[in-house]
Amino acid sequence: MLIITFSPEETREVGRVLGEACHGGEVILLEGDLGAGKTTFTQGLAVGLGIVEPVVSPTFIVMREYDGRMPLYHFDFYRLEGTGRAVDLEFEEYLLGGGVCVIEWPSCAPELAPDDYIHIAIEEKAGMQRNVTVEAVGERHRTALGRLRAALTPQDGQL
Ligand code: ADP
Ligand code: MG
Repeated sequence: MLIITFSPEETREVGRVLGEACHGGEVILLEGDLGAGKTTFTQGLAVGLGIVEPVVSPTFIVMREYDGRMPLYHFDFYRLEGTGRAVDLEFEEYLLGGGVCVIEWPSCAPELAPDDYIHIAIEEKAGMQRNVTVEAVGERHRTALGRLRAALTPQDGQL
């Protein structure tokens, strides 16, 4: 699914709707260059999870936890390259905890990637345009993506 946004607010809104579509246990991999909008997207997702605390980049501490309707574990693997094994066990426990895990720079520790996930690639285009490509692997994540698609697709009569 391709979503095109034209401002940080629009990207946050897509994140918020995905947050509302999450029921717990989802893993969201966020791919994209520096400044693409991964943290911006996560800020909206947190709102959709009922989190009021502002979300800031976890780059320097690897993971920040927030409490809302369910916990959000916000990871940034940017500085993990080559050290993945050290956090292996801990990370799997987060996945079992029933919260939502968001991972920026998942490609920096590919050995930690779970089998099922929502993969989101954010691509910077001209001006403030971002192409946000969303794919889901596994039943739980396909269901969440289906709820996102339904929420973003105008119903007949609303156009
Ligand atoms: P990342 O976490 O991918 O490094 P950030 O979310 O921290 O990126 O930063 C994205 C930057 O791009 C912010 O300064 C934001 O205001 C800006 N921006 C401009 N247009 C958009 C857009 N359409 N979506 C998201 N961010 C945007
Ligand atoms: Mg970031």
